[in-house]
Amino acid sequence: MQSLDPGARPPISSAGSALQPIPVFNVAAAEVDQQLHICNACRYCEGFCAVFPAMTRRLDFTQADIHYLANLCHNCGACLHACQYAEPHAFAVNVPRAMARVRLDTYAEYAWPPALGRLYRRNGLTLSLATAAGLGLFLALTLAVKGTLFPGPLAGDFYAIFPHDALALMFGLVFAFATLALGMAVRRFWREVSPPSEEPVQKGAAAFEASGAVLRLKYLDGGHGEGCNEESDRFTLWRRRFHHCTFYGFLLCFAATSVATLYHFVLGLEAPYPLTSLPVLLGTAGGLGLLVGPAGLLWLNRRRHPEHGDSAQRPMDRGFIALLLLVSLSGLALLAGRDSGAMALLLALHLGAVMAFFLTMPYGKFAHGIFRSAALLKFAIEKRQPDRLRMGGE
Ligand code: SF4
Ligand code: SF4
Repeated sequence: MQSLDPGARPPISSAGSALQPIPVFNVAAAEVDQQLHICNACRYCEGFCAVFPAMTRRLDFTQADIHYLANLCHNCGACLHACQYAEPHAFAVNVPRAMARVRLDTYAEYAWPPALGRLYRRNGLTLSLATAAGLGLFLALTLAVKGTLFPGPLAGDFYAIFPHDALALMFGLVFAFATLALGMAVRRFWREVSPPSEEPVQKGAAAFEASGAVLRLKYLDGGHGEGCNEESDRFTLWRRRFHHCTFYGFLLCFAATSVATLYHFVLGLEAPYPLTSLPVLLGTAGGLGLLVGPAGLLWLNRRRHPEHGDSAQRPMDRGFIALLLLVSLSGLALLAGRDSGAMALLLALHLGAVMAFFLTMPYGKFAHGIFRSAALLKFAIEKRQPDRLRMGGE
């Protein structure tokens, strides 16, 4: 049985022996390693989330294990509020904060192209808003120079302001780059945390289970259905609800753009579309979701217990939320003013916000959703493989 006394084991990992080299961890990973050894002896939090059952499959942790477990954690705070070894105890266990620090390292380490990984540490509120404002201003000034900033009512005909093909090319290229960068990053992550295995596993069933966990945000229910901790020991489901609004709001906006693309290129139906058309209805519902969700998340973020997560990452969190709010607010304002003389200005501001969102997508908080989905898939696969230690309760 392991001892809870940190002095009874080496400070970083007990994996070292004549056969196994001691892993070389950075400071953040070493902190997680140390805390997980305490948790592995305690196991009080086994039912809270996927991290603890995954942890009990290991006695020692490699760097890849720590990256995997850190991305399996979604910073709900439950294990901190339940922990008898949290401060003021001398062990000072704070799993959410230790995991959050490693998560940032993983985003930067697996980023593609690798040289851009350092952007994760600079992706703050100011950068996000400055990018959106700069792009919006650039587009507005371009229109002003052309004399089309206030062209009078155009009945919602956006393409009279910016030609359709130019917009499709510009946004298509940026979106394709963001998708490629995120795809390459998660591929690098997956290769490290999930090396090829000889053991047969039902990958379809695992993928189905992981997709269900992602779509339902399963672990935001705290493992008991009552939700996360925010500013106190009280459980609340608001974080789950606001995440749902944000997630499905984003998907609805994406669906609106996809349907409009089909209308244009396949059906030959060109914008502007009526308010009751499918693209406008989907976009309006998505915009409302992206307004309610991020506004709620910002409200929760400002009230969160100071010991939750890594306070150094708050600018990145808030920058992402602020950009989402800017996208939805400018989109809804554009919808409301599409028949007015201010349409061109509103369009420039909205396009600037959307472009800033796409540009910062691979190097900001958006990556959390992608890495976490990969970690949930790894967890679903691992559950279907034999547990040689047989010490967990999953
Ligand atoms: S977080 Fe604390 S209470 Fe929970 S398993 Fe770890 S040491 Fe035990
Ligand atoms: S903070 Fe929540 S998700 Fe993260 S390890 Fe603790 S209980 Fe699990």
